[in-house]
This record gives sequence, structure tokens and C-alpha cells, in this order.
Amino acid sequence: MKKVQLSTKILIGLVAGILAGILLQGSPDIANHWIKPFGTLFLNLIKMIIVPLVLASLVVGTCGLGDVRKLGRIGGKTLAYYLLTTAFAVILGLILANMFSVGAGFTIPAETKAAEAKEIPKVVDTLLNIIPTNPIKALADGNMLQIIAFALILGGGIVVLGEKGKPLYDFFDSLTEATYKITGGIMNFAPYAVFALIVPVVAANGPKVLLPLLSVIIIVYLGCFLHAVLVYSGTLAVFAKFSPIKFFKGIFPAQAIAFTTCSSSAALPVNMQCTEKNLGVPKSICSFVLPLGATVNMDGTALYQGVCALFIANVFGIDLTISQQFTIVLTATLASIGTAGVPGAGLIMLTMVLQSVGLPLEGLALVAGIDRILDMARTTINITGDSACAIIIAASENELDRNCEIKHGYSV
Ligand code: ASP
Repeated sequence: MKKVQLSTKILIGLVAGILAGILLQGSPDIANHWIKPFGTLFLNLIKMIIVPLVLASLVVGTCGLGDVRKLGRIGGKTLAYYLLTTAFAVILGLILANMFSVGAGFTIPAETKAAEAKEIPKVVDTLLNIIPTNPIKALADGNMLQIIAFALILGGGIVVLGEKGKPLYDFFDSLTEATYKITGGIMNFAPYAVFALIVPVVAANGPKVLLPLLSVIIIVYLGCFLHAVLVYSGTLAVFAKFSPIKFFKGIFPAQAIAFTTCSSSAALPVNMQCTEKNLGVPKSICSFVLPLGATVNMDGTALYQGVCALFIANVFGIDLTISQQFTIVLTATLASIGTAGVPGAGLIMLTMVLQSVGLPLEGLALVAGIDRILDMARTTINITGDSACAIIIAASENELDRNCEIKHGYSV
């Protein structure tokens, strides 16, 4: 028998949960006391793994970037492009979500209105607070921005240590693998958790609570489209004098793989082929820029996180201040370095973005059911950004083969 994919199971969990929620509308107590705890168990498991996962994967990611330094000029340009475009993607996501008030018009009362209870921090304080005076406390408190800062600094230290830093690197590398495995295990519960989390929401508020989800899908797809048109076409035309039409034609096979597999890593081999054979970037640049991008550059994921954070805030009736939105830009940009290029990784990292501004993690249940649909768009954008960067780097190094023709017979 064919194995049912996890994403299909999650969707089934969502639909079943909605139906059960409708049936239990008259008796929300059953939903709250008997069903919701299973969802809470799942959220606790996610909360348990997120701190070690972020710390370990970011330390390892930063060590990877350490090699970039050795590559000097190309490394610097690549990193600058990756980070700037990712930050732009989150900002674009937030602008669109604010403009269209994603999820507004329907409010679920939040149990933990942590974001409201907090005093509004100033931007300067947010920036100063990024450096933890006590990293152990940051880890214990689950202060995401501080954990990210500590991980980047620790990773930098390991790189500078060179050979001596190897055991520490191996430790974090192995911890990363272990936390990925555990996350994979936890995700197997996701279909049941989505069921358990959505039942009480629908039982208490009625099925109309789901309508706003459609707006999330539309805004994420619109954002991804705009990002491709504005940022990739724009930077290709300005910095590489490269035709965006040729670019999108040449990259299409890789996009198709990314769209269907929802994995940047799975699309990497085809992306390398397309970028080299169709678009004329030399192998030496492809083999450095693209694998790095598949691990650290996730514009689509960052955009999606911006939209979802605002959606969850709106649905739970929490106003996000400008400084909180700034924190989202920072966390989502940095989170993309630690996000694995596999299906659903962005959803896990969304926990961290939500936590950084005190938004209720229950909101995850709402977006988890449609995550696959969003993953298709964001992964496509993730890999498109890597290829655009490779072309710009090749052009800036005068190594772009401008006569390279798209091989129409090229098959995936
Ligand atoms: N699936 C995405 C990727 O592989 C990561 C994510 O879940 O956002 O690029």
C-alpha cells in the first residue's frame, strides 16, 4: 500500500478536527478538557526541542559561513546578497500582511496575551538586548534573539580556533543531527496535534474562524511573486544586466522540483544544472554559492514567517508594535540561516519567531494545516534566490557566459 504522506495526514487531521469541532460546538468543555491536552503535549515537545535545535544548527551554520570568509570577496558578496534579500523578504511579507490586515476581522481570545502584557520596548533596547549578558540564562528563558546572537558568536569563535575547535564543531554537528531526528519524530504526531488543537478553536468559535486562512495563502503567494519580480528580476537587471525572462525560463526545471518536493536540498542538484548549463554560471561559482544558499538562504521562508506571525497576532487580537515587527525581521532573517532545506522546516522555525515576540504558539495549529501549500511557494522562492545570486556573483567577477543558451531539450 502506498504510504500516506505526512502533509496529507496533517490535512486530514485539520479537516477531521474542523468537523469534530463543529459537532462539539454545544459542548466546548469536552474539547478543552479531553482533546486539547494532546495538542498541548505536541506544543510542549516542540518547545522542548526548539532551543537545542536553534543553538546547534546555527552554530553549525555559522561554522559553514566561516569557510566563506576564506573565499574572501565572493563569500562576502554572496553573504551580503543573501542576508539583504532575506531581510527584504520579511519586510515585504510584513508590509503585505499589514496592508491586507491578514486574518483580521476574526479574533480568538488568547489565553496568554504575553505580547500585550509586555511593555513596548524601544528599538535601541531591542538592539542592545540582543547580546545576552548570561547565555545560559538566555537558553533557559528561551530568549530566541539572544540565543541566535550567542550561537553566531560561538560559531565565529569555533571557526577562529581552527583545528582546535573541531571537537566542539563535531559536538554541535551531532547535536544538530540528533535534534533534527527528534523533530522528525515529533512531527509524526502533527496530524493528531493539529486535530486536537483545532477542535477546541472551532468548537468555541464556529467554523468561520477558518476563512482567514485563505487570506494567508493568497498573501504568501502574492508576496513570493512580488519578491521574484521586484528583487530577483530587479537585481539581475541592475547588477548583472541579465534578462529576467531568460532567468525564469532557465531556472524553471529546478523550480518545478522545488515546488513539488518542498525541499531546497532535493532541488539543489537540478538547480546546479540549470544555473550552470542554462544560465551560464561557471561550475566553480555554482558549487560554492548554491549549496550554501540551499542551507542558509531562505527568502520564501522568511517572507512566510512574517506573514504568519502577523496573521497569528491578528487572529489572537494582539497588536504588534513596530519594534516587535522589527524583532520579527531580525529573527526571521537570522532563522533562515538555521532552517534546514527540507519540507516543513520553516514551520518549526516559525515557533522561534513567534516566541521572540511572545505570540501564542497555538496559532501554529491554524497554519500547520495549510503549511504544505505555503511550503511549495516558499521553497520555490528559496532556490530561485540562490540561482539569482550565483548569476550576479558570476557577472561581477566577469565569469558569466552570456552566450549560454537555454537547452530546450533539457529534461529534469
Ligand atoms: N521547505 C523549505 C525548503 O526546503 C524550508 C521551509 O520549510 O521553509 O527550502
